[in-house]
Amino acid sequence: MSPSSFLGYDLRVKRTIKRQPGPAFTPALDAWPDAGVYQLWIELRRPLRVTVGALGLIHFTRGMYVYTGRARRGLRARVLRHVRGAQRLHWHIDYLLAEQAARVGEVLLASWDPNDECRVNRAAADGRVAVPGFGASDCRNNCPGHLWNVC
Ligand SMILES: [Zn+2]
Repeated sequence: MSPSSFLGYDLRVKRTIKRQPGPAFTPALDAWPDAGVYQLWIELRRPLRVTVGALGLIHFTRGMYVYTGRARRGLRARVLRHVRGAQRLHWHIDYLLAEQAARVGEVLLASWDPNDECRVNRAAADGRVAVPGFGASDCRNNCPGHLWNVC
């Protein structure tokens, strides 16, 4: 992903979602590596009931959520996929982000090492786990979930 194509993305978001600024990437997306751990800061502007794949119907309260994920390659494409909305719902987080009321406010590069995923995830554990097992299908470290409700 070149900086210019990222800029194109940014302009498109601004056109289609006029009142919502695009998410802030920290650092700027063109500085991201190909592999690593990311965190999405997600605002739910109203309570939601969402069917999340095999987890079934989940009730989310209004508030801020932090999701931790990783990519072993294609990290920038992964986070852009989250922000733009997935064509095909695959990960648990896709179901939540498909909702109009869920807005990604910030996308953080948390580590260049994909193996840090669960350590980074647990550092967000000041909140309560939003949904047991959410985003943790591939987790081998017994995290209660990879989505936290932080306020
Ligand atoms: Zn984990």
